[in-house]
Amino acid sequence: MTDPTPTLAPASRRRPAWYPATIAAVAPETPNARRIVLDVPGWPGSAPGQHVDVRLTAEDGYQASRSYSLASSGGAGTVVLAVDRVEDGEVSPFLVDAAEVGDAVEVQGPLGGWFVWRPGESTRPVQLIAGGSGIVPLAAIATAHADAADFTPFRLLVSVRTPEDLFFRDELERAAAVPTAPLDVTVVHSRRAPDGAVAPAGRLTRDRLAEAVFPPETGALVYVCGSTPFVEQVLQWLDELGHDTADVRAERFGGAG
Ligand SMILES: Cc1cc2nc3c(=O)[nH]c(=O)nc-3n(C[C@H](O)[C@H](O)[C@H](O)COP(=O)(O)OP(=O)(O)OC[C@H]3O[C@@H](n4cnc5c(N)ncnc54)[C@H](O)[C@@H]3O)c2cc1C
Repeated sequence: MTDPTPTLAPASRRRPAWYPATIAAVAPETPNARRIVLDVPGWPGSAPGQHVDVRLTAEDGYQASRSYSLASSGGAGTVVLAVDRVEDGEVSPFLVDAAEVGDAVEVQGPLGGWFVWRPGESTRPVQLIAGGSGIVPLAAIATAHADAADFTPFRLLVSVRTPEDLFFRDELERAAAVPTAPLDVTVVHSRRAPDGAVAPAGRLTRDRLAEAVFPPETGALVYVCGSTPFVEQVLQWLDELGHDTADVRAERFGGAG
């Protein structure tokens, strides 16, 4: 006979707490996106690649929450987000255009234990693949790798519409300059390439992806993040190119699939 007494889920499976947070700083990240720094008293810290849920509460009590990746990692009572404006969206236009320093929000997290990379855990090469704002958790991973002076080989392939749409340019340049294992960055511009670029503008294709990423025989761990259609397309190409699905981790930001 089964025991009818309800039991709580084990601690490892419980959702983390909601934390009151305050917007401490905002800055343009791209023409369509904003970097937001939150003060989160009591924040327990996060691993590179994790995300939070952000909850907004209107004066009439209406609430809306969405997931946002952390561009930061570790724990100093502060988290960094980068939010891209989705036209006609409910939450992202508010965060990008209207939210102000001093505004109160709530964050739940850190969330996601699979889409993470920690310095020192593995020496397998790491391939990061991002579409647009999908670079946010990958920037956290690349920054952690650079800060730790870790020798793991790292590559990033990122697809953006124009040069101005690249998030975290300074952080990526810094990661590409570390002497230990510099981040090898390939940027694909789908609509307009920078003046003098070797590669013309054009959508990411399977051939361009194959040229840029570690080949499957290197045993690279692959992290893919972006809109759902972008991620699905990249996963299909990685599979066709021979990458083992067990080596590939994906984070889908949403949008029509
Ligand atoms: C784990 C996780 C991490 C995320 N991290 C980030 C992040 O770091 N930065 C960031 O900007 N966003 C991130 N997102 C997406 C974010 O959670 C919201 O979905 C996004 O901000 C849109 O919310 P909205 O309320 O403005 O739009 P909604 O009102 O929810 O949706 C409006 C319309 O836009 C479509 N839509 C929703 N999301 C997207 C999208 N990403 N791309 C294209 N169309 C979309 C919907 O299907 C709908 O038709 C993340 C999502 C997940 C699941």
